[in-house]
Amino acid sequence: MPTAENGLQISVVVPAYNEQDNVVPLIEAVREALDGRNYEIIFVDDGSTDETFERLRGCTDRRLRIIKFRRNFGQTAALDAGFKAARGRVIVPMDADLQNDPADIPRLLEKLDEGFDVVSGWRRDRQDPLSKRLISRGANLLRKLLIHDSIHDSGCTLKAYRCECFRGLDLYGEMHRFIPALLQWRGFRIAELPVTHHHRRHGQTKYNVFRVLKGFLDMIIVSFWMNYSARPIHLFGSLGVTTTGLGFLCGLYLSIIKMMGTPIAGRPLLLLAVLLIIVGVEFIIFGVMSDILVKIYYRDQPTYNIETELDNSGSDDSCA
Ligand code: UDP
Ligand code: MG
Repeated sequence: MPTAENGLQISVVVPAYNEQDNVVPLIEAVREALDGRNYEIIFVDDGSTDETFERLRGCTDRRLRIIKFRRNFGQTAALDAGFKAARGRVIVPMDADLQNDPADIPRLLEKLDEGFDVVSGWRRDRQDPLSKRLISRGANLLRKLLIHDSIHDSGCTLKAYRCECFRGLDLYGEMHRFIPALLQWRGFRIAELPVTHHHRRHGQTKYNVFRVLKGFLDMIIVSFWMNYSARPIHLFGSLGVTTTGLGFLCGLYLSIIKMMGTPIAGRPLLLLAVLLIIVGVEFIIFGVMSDILVKIYYRDQPTYNIETELDNSGSDDSCA
């Protein structure tokens, strides 16, 4: 868990997977941008098969910390390891490929000082191929519909977070794209700031079109978690009751016409009625099971998030 040790101001967290030609120039760019500040830079080598680790190891900067994964676990896992290792009061994740610009970090910190918990980078002038930008537009639109967050560019890695943000935040799958939404839901104050975005000069992008599908599935999980994590029975129960109810109505209609003498054995509606009732009952059972699972999940952690606690028990009874 992040703690602010030794007055360390900033932890720059950089996941790197096969970025051998980018890592050293990035360290230099961060050094230039954060000159005079108390910071550390944590690289998480996510199982690179090129010389990323050797180049990092060859760098003697005392502010550099390196975490090396045994294999490629993905960007979210790499970020999570970096966040857990970070000791700064503010955590600034960024890509290793020089597409984010460290020169933006001081501006993000300034904005954070205006009283926000997160300042989210927004690549307003994004330098990626058209296909990627279009996919991202679609994903952002869908995210707004499903998750209702107010963030334009959730996928931009460059952001600034107060270290408290990560307490109790579990990151897995491709969840790093939804961190601002998850934090907003937990009550943290979010601001946005347009940041510079460059073309990738060295190395290749690690993502292809399949990321859209994974991102969509993760979005469903985030949306479900935000709306129903405390009481999943409300979702599955409502679905179950509606489906079963429809099944009963179909059955009732068929029973009435049967009583009036019309044969119903060959009617597709009969099949539908049976199907709806079975599926509805399954939904309800599923809801009960999920509720039990969630109860176990929340046994060790609260369903709420406390910002501050004041305790007057040791002081006089006065309000002056
Ligand atoms: N990355 C990683 N593990 C992965 C994939 C990517 O650590 O499995 C890092 C990568 O090295 C880069 C950042 O995540 O620093 C963003 O990746 P990339 O530039 O390929 O994504 P894009 O900018 O194309 O969306
Ligand atoms: Mg990139």
